[in-house]
Amino acid sequence: MGIGENIRRVSETLPPQVKLVAVSKTKPVDDILQAYQAGQRAFGENKVQELTAKQPLLPADVEWHFIGHLQRNKVKYIAPFVSLIHSVDSLKLLEVIDREAAKNQRTIRCLLQFHIAAETTKFGMSPEEARDLLRSGEFNALNHVQISGVMGMATFTDDREVVRREFRQLKNIFDLLKEEFFSEDTHFREISMGMSDDYLVAVEEGSTLVRIGSTIFGERQYL
Ligand SMILES: *Cc1c(COP(=O)(O)O)cnc(C)c1O
Repeated sequence: MGIGENIRRVSETLPPQVKLVAVSKTKPVDDILQAYQAGQRAFGENKVQELTAKQPLLPADVEWHFIGHLQRNKVKYIAPFVSLIHSVDSLKLLEVIDREAAKNQRTIRCLLQFHIAAETTKFGMSPEEARDLLRSGEFNALNHVQISGVMGMATFTDDREVVRREFRQLKNIFDLLKEEFFSEDTHFREISMGMSDDYLVAVEEGSTLVRIGSTIFGERQYL
């Protein structure tokens, strides 16, 4: 099965309000081009160095999503072109993104990442940390970032009910933040949840962005 065919098959299972982010990390530019030729425009990468190497080799209308842990000293490399940063987990990071966005005379869309999984290794904030951030004077002074929603990763488990509960928790966090901080803000609308193994559950629980890698590009080889 080819990459283009995989894109079409995954897309057919998604309702119209859900956008597919094709996660191309570790995959060569040729694979990304195959997906592009099948009509895919949004791609996700989780390493700054890999993203900045690939970006100039692909068409300018590719929409790059940053989905990995982002170090503050690397924001400057992706600030000129990144379309959405899914993984904001601190005010300090947001301040750097704002500064780099301003230098590039643009606004960068960001999602707040929440820790919803049982594993302690996964990054993300708690709802309390997010509330503190959103209430702070420092945050409210930023004007080159736009908080567009939330992101989370479920526990790596075969237990569908655990995964469903965690996605439901993220949807609930989204609803509460929307009500408290963004009720008038139509930009706050994204719930980034769901990967190859759990995206159908995520869609049932209200996902608007699914991040799918191996189902499209095949298993990754880590060297
Ligand atoms: C790698 C990755 C994905 C895609 O994972 P697959 O299981 O290959 O679909 C999604 N989200 C994040 C944050 C990732 O790092």
